Amino acid sequence: MLVQDHDNALQSWGRIDRVKRRIIHRDAWGETNSQVLPFGNGRSYGDSCHSDDGVLINTRLNAQIHNFDPETGILDADAGVLLVDVLHHVIPHGYFLEVTPGTSYITLGGAIANDVHGKNHHVKGTFGHCVQSFTLVRSDSDSVLTCSRDENAKLFAATIGGMGLTGIILNVRVQLMKVSSPDIWQKSIRFNHLDQYFDICDEMDQRHEYSVAWIDQLTSGKNFGRGVLMAGDHADQSEGGRTLPKPAKLSVPFAPPINLINKYSLSAFNAAYFHKAKAGTHESIAPWQGYFYPLDAIKGWNKLYGPKGLFQHQSVYPLAHGRETTIRLLECAKRHDHASFLTVLKRFGAKNSVGLFSFPREGFTLTLDFANQGARTLKFLRELDEITIEAGGAVNPYKDQRMAADVFKASFPDWERLENHRDPKFMSNFWQRTAMQLNVSVPA
Ligand SMILES: Cc1cc2nc3c(=O)[nH]c(=O)nc-3n(C[C@H](O)[C@H](O)[C@H](O)COP(=O)(O)OP(=O)(O)OC[C@H]3O[C@@H](n4cnc5c(N)ncnc54)[C@H](O)[C@@H]3O)c2cc1C
Repeated sequence: MLVQDHDNALQSWGRIDRVKRRIIHRDAWGETNSQVLPFGNGRSYGDSCHSDDGVLINTRLNAQIHNFDPETGILDADAGVLLVDVLHHVIPHGYFLEVTPGTSYITLGGAIANDVHGKNHHVKGTFGHCVQSFTLVRSDSDSVLTCSRDENAKLFAATIGGMGLTGIILNVRVQLMKVSSPDIWQKSIRFNHLDQYFDICDEMDQRHEYSVAWIDQLTSGKNFGRGVLMAGDHADQSEGGRTLPKPAKLSVPFAPPINLINKYSLSAFNAAYFHKAKAGTHESIAPWQGYFYPLDAIKGWNKLYGPKGLFQHQSVYPLAHGRETTIRLLECAKRHDHASFLTVLKRFGAKNSVGLFSFPREGFTLTLDFANQGARTLKFLRELDEITIEAGGAVNPYKDQRMAADVFKASFPDWERLENHRDPKFMSNFWQRTAMQLNVSVPA
């Protein structure tokens, strides 16, 4: 089955590069001579989920949950199942995902392939830690390979964070976490200056399972980098409920002809958001949907950036340079007159990822979103890259649409280890644009 993408369903979340794409059924990929790449739900921001010289493989069609054992908390499902459907299934049994990113509309396969992280990285590490095993098919193997820490262990590690380049993940077994309630007992701490975040974040991380800060990127002077740190833990049974995922209440049906996320609209939004959080420390029970997935409530919010789309820039840099690097990145954005809607600062913990090629590493991670303003945005994003690399950090590949090969190499000096495990038939726009531009001398 070959489908042309007429309805933008095969775009990535940034919507920068809106070309027609072809997608084939999971069972038909062996018949094509083109290069291929599995496609989850397109929640990657850039071009790591695209393969425009080839075809995409539909992993979601007929994907289903096969079994969930409430005794052990182990889920057995097709890789194309969405996290939102996993939650629907396990919450009534008192379970939750051990690690979840900021949207529930991603597939299990996408969560593994990008080894995603959440607000509890300092405690639980990345998604790969809860993966027990998966089955994988490759063009250079006749059999379906079972991969785990004990079986095909190298392929297991290369596929976790391998950005879909090592084969198609078919079936996954993941460990879920027993919780008293999916809802969160939340502690919000409003801080008036970035310095205060760095003063309190260690203590908050030590005390709480979840911790993340929203930063008002547009402020300066005595309010520079003000924001709200949201720490939390699963609530007691008596405090929280077991409500199931609800469909989005609001939706952006089409992209407006102009970008609605600009420095004027954002200044007003940021000020309102900052003042909505009460001064000092405030404790409350936050329904899990709002705590983990606030943006899932607005379907298609990425269209608000208008027809040119958005770039996301996520960097990670060593703890020792955390404060000064965060200041440099935020000042750079202001200097270039670029306003970020979602500015999120978090500390990644020391737990090593299971994946060979995972992005998270110990340090601070800053995420910024910018409307695409063409060449001036690209120039400015390059400066953010340079600040990150100078600090000894890395730029996130699965949020990226434009990083140059040198930035990629500095971020992943061991990139050839993944190339070594890449299925020869598999290629992405991202890998073509970065790794394939470097001198490849893969050890046998
Ligand atoms: C609002 C929002 C918030 C986000 N928050 C976070 C966050 O907090 N932390 C974080 O880490 N990420 C975050 N992300 C990014 C997102 O979680 C990842 O990009 C995720 O991997 C997307 O999964 P997907 O199912 O949509 O897959 P896609 O984006 O379609 O594909 C992702 C990768 O997975 C590969 N892939 C998909 N299925 C398979 C398969 N069956 N076999 C092999 N490879 C496969 C693809 O080839 C591709 O390389 C966020 C994204 C959005 C839109």
